Amino acid sequence: MSNVKQVPHAPDRNIGEGPFERLIIRGVTMIDGSGTPPDGSVDIVVEGNKIKEIVQAGLPESALANAKVIDAAGMYVMPGFVDTHAHIGGVNQGVPAEYVHKLWLAHGVTTVRDPGSFNGADWTIHEKERSEKNEIVAPRIYAYTCPRNWDKPLTPDNVPEFVQWAIEKGFDGFKIINRWNPDTIVALLEEAKKYNLGTMAHISQTTAARMDALQAARAGLGSLEHWYGLPEAMFADRTVQHFPAHYNYSNEYHRFSQSGRLWKQAAPPHSDKWNAVMDELIELDFTMNPTFAIYEASRDAARAQTADYHEEYTYPSLWNYYQPDPTKHGSFFTDWTTQDEIEWKENYRLWMAFINEYKNRGGRICTGSDSGFIYKTYGFDFIREFELLQEAGFHPLEVIRAATLKGAELLSKENNVPMEFGVIQPGYLADLVLVKENPLHNFKTLYGNGALRLNRDTGVTERVGGVSFTIKDGIIYDAKALLEDVKEMVHHAK
Ligand SMILES: [Zn+2]
Repeated sequence: MSNVKQVPHAPDRNIGEGPFERLIIRGVTMIDGSGTPPDGSVDIVVEGNKIKEIVQAGLPESALANAKVIDAAGMYVMPGFVDTHAHIGGVNQGVPAEYVHKLWLAHGVTTVRDPGSFNGADWTIHEKERSEKNEIVAPRIYAYTCPRNWDKPLTPDNVPEFVQWAIEKGFDGFKIINRWNPDTIVALLEEAKKYNLGTMAHISQTTAARMDALQAARAGLGSLEHWYGLPEAMFADRTVQHFPAHYNYSNEYHRFSQSGRLWKQAAPPHSDKWNAVMDELIELDFTMNPTFAIYEASRDAARAQTADYHEEYTYPSLWNYYQPDPTKHGSFFTDWTTQDEIEWKENYRLWMAFINEYKNRGGRICTGSDSGFIYKTYGFDFIREFELLQEAGFHPLEVIRAATLKGAELLSKENNVPMEFGVIQPGYLADLVLVKENPLHNFKTLYGNGALRLNRDTGVTERVGGVSFTIKDGIIYDAKALLEDVKEMVHHAK
């Protein structure tokens, strides 16, 4: 339906410098996103919105004339991050777009993929187009639509019409979610591919019994969001999940507590079935977007509920949305138990084992946050995804590669266009993140409010880190200033 209530669009750009004819990031240590180790110091020359050259030994002083120079001695630079599952708020969360965009950029996110464009087709495309022109402060937006933005129910027969509508609107792809008929899924995947449009799916329990992740991948699905449909593809001694008799999918507590008991019903790690499914998915060049962070409250509700950034950075209406309420998605903590958390810890252990091995065998893993639900706030919980990938077994360089190169690779593959960001290399777009602390040492330093560290000289525990500058399309954003704006918005709304 297109009668979506509107949330405020982002206002005209009110912060950020550039792009510059010539910008030099001087004396920086580079983590280029490809998995290669830190290297420096280097000077990175940016002209307009493109990386022009990377100079190893450093440019002579004379080359700095007439250039904007960032003295980055002692700093690290990474490619801008790609959040491949990033909702631009919504009516339910009640957050203005400016709040969401600024939190993303403040955490180094220069590209997002909006799954579903739940704020409506025209609303989302408006943000996308204004971001492309840098008229607003926002990451690049890849907008994926879903049938709820259209004015009729989707059937296999009208899929071509839906796809043409999406092309005319300017969408980059499609999100499959909730109850879908497999014929409609197959028709949409085929039609989307014809026009180089992307596809992503949350294969919910109302769909998985008829189409699991492997069947969807075979039909041409681009990426699996979250994980639903994957254990189901690896059932060896059953064909449907072991639902208790009283289960009702529309009951959010049933849904989340029972999905915490799902991974252990699948074939065990490294068994024949587990291996066969993994190998075929990798053969299909299928992408996994685990979104570990969004489920974290299931294994440790208190941690998510009391995160140290909520007070200053979580918008009051978003906070209200997080509170237990059976009518709201993901607000399922109506009677969350010790046993539920124990089940979820085991669920994570099996899920993480799959994701880490998938990466080891050459499969593509991306970083998606799905923030705006379940006590997970934009930007902050994108960084939490880094920590959880590391927990799954990723080397920090593999985590950064997932958040940069792999995300960019997915987006370029889905739209069948050459990659133009995701790695720091000449000719690519100048999307960069500059930080003072070594991210490989501690991802916690990437949180907007930094990480705690004892200063041994003064005996005082201080907050260190946070992104210093996020550069998008050659425009320099002071990440601390973005966070000040966010804090002010939150304070004002309270
Ligand atoms: Zn989502």
